[in-house]
Amino acid sequence: MRGRMMALPLTINEIMHYAARHHGEVEVVSVTGDEGLHRTTYAQVFERSARLAEVLTGLGLQRGDRVATLAWNDHRHLELYYGVSCAGFVLHTVNPRLFAEHLVYIMNHAEDRVLCFDPIFMPLVEALADKLPTIEHYVVLCGAASIPANKLPGLVCYETLLDNASADYSWPTLDESSASALCYTSGTTGNPKGVLYSHRSTVLHAYGSVMPDTMGLSKRDTVLPVVPMFHANAWGMPYACPIAGAKLVMPGPKMADGETLHSLIESEGVTAALGVPTVWLALLAYLRDSGKTVPSLERTVVGGAACPLSIMREFEDKHGVTTRHAWGMTETSPLGTVNTLLQSMDNLSDRERDEIRVKQGRVPFGVDLKIVNDVGEEQPWDGESFGDLKVRGYWVCDGYFKQDDSVASLDAGGWFSTGDVATIDTAGFMKITDRTKDVIKSGGEWISSIELENLAMGHPDVAEAAVIGVEHPKWTERPLLVVVPREARAIAKRELLDWFKGKVADWWIPNDVVFVESIPHTATGKVSKLSLREQLKDYRLPPG
Ligand code: AMP
Repeated sequence: MRGRMMALPLTINEIMHYAARHHGEVEVVSVTGDEGLHRTTYAQVFERSARLAEVLTGLGLQRGDRVATLAWNDHRHLELYYGVSCAGFVLHTVNPRLFAEHLVYIMNHAEDRVLCFDPIFMPLVEALADKLPTIEHYVVLCGAASIPANKLPGLVCYETLLDNASADYSWPTLDESSASALCYTSGTTGNPKGVLYSHRSTVLHAYGSVMPDTMGLSKRDTVLPVVPMFHANAWGMPYACPIAGAKLVMPGPKMADGETLHSLIESEGVTAALGVPTVWLALLAYLRDSGKTVPSLERTVVGGAACPLSIMREFEDKHGVTTRHAWGMTETSPLGTVNTLLQSMDNLSDRERDEIRVKQGRVPFGVDLKIVNDVGEEQPWDGESFGDLKVRGYWVCDGYFKQDDSVASLDAGGWFSTGDVATIDTAGFMKITDRTKDVIKSGGEWISSIELENLAMGHPDVAEAAVIGVEHPKWTERPLLVVVPREARAIAKRELLDWFKGKVADWWIPNDVVFVESIPHTATGKVSKLSLREQLKDYRLPPG
């Protein structure tokens, strides 16, 4: 028997219509290249999205056609999020930090027909244009007066297009399972793979992100997503904030600039900020050096890479900011787990709480997880047993764009293999110990590089740390600690290695330390262990 309830489609169009009617006055504030600190509202954003949809339809785009963006977080990118997807086209957010060959591969693989880009990417676009045969229209995201000198034939100006378009566009009714957005994720090997989000997965993910134990968003919030809109849709904030009626503050190209982040938090009264650990290192360093603080900020959501305890402590002890450690992937939209403490943990000692806080947390309704051994057997939730982490859920991909199903390799039960290694404790808190490829195998036993990195980052003289496995004649592999010292103070190797004593099993303690000026990062701001291993390929451990 069919239930007698309305079958309204779960489409991003519904988010837009709802937010325009009920949160239309809520502000969207952006750092822009051409208009300084720009202020608008959701109502105005969606009005301009309608103009954009009219323009794209006029260009002859058909349902499902891809529109690429090379753009930072600002109001124009938000207009594209809605104008493209709600008109039935697919928004392909491209990461401008990728290597040129990857950019070319991605845009050709996606068969993008339109490319909208920030003026600062003009040299990049000019260099790539003759390798992008599918792109028919280049649109620069600024006003006519701010277009940089260029040699792009037929380049059009975004603001001019919108000025000349009508806002009377009639939005289509879309099938909720139709594709809404596309984001490529780079593995350590092979070509990037396209994760193709649907309207339905995006709406459910936005619902899931608003919940109290995930991002906990409300109309009282002012949210600063410091995670780029080209990386897993800025963790869904462009969809979740309009649902919640939260004000959005977007840092434009000033992502890892501590001073800008502080000034936005202060001037806009930001209550929640989201980003990878590197971003928070930049903000905390600025606050330390300037003696400033962030009174309005209630919480930071830190994910994308393991959040060292030192970041959580500094936020909490010095600035009264709670950190929510979160885990996810492009393939999981990205919300996977978030760490908020249970009521039963209120009376734990600081040390016991710290042990829990460094874990990546629990799943919200909508996602489930399990850990399995090499032969696919589920491992116990005892906080000790390691296993390959698998997930399933409303907003987890079941394959990649234009790839056969074997690439995503779902198991017989439909679970997606994340490529992460994790433990899960009795309370359901998951802890990532490594990427499958980064795990250090010493004498047949696993050592967690992430745990060692977290501890190293807690040393007052360490600015950044990474741990990789290097060949060892007896143990196969042993951990090597790579450190960027803070303020060029010479730290003795012995002092650093002694730092681990009593904090981990003795056989986990790295065999040696290498000091470097900087650690390589990937295009999404994570430590690139691949490049680091390459950089240190001639390194040999001291005998012993
Ligand atoms: P991406 O798809 O680029 O966002 O990368 C996803 C990967 O980042 C995951 O599979 C993890 O390996 C890693 N990751 C994300 N969040 C965390 C976290 N909180 N702690 C450790 N690793 C993380």
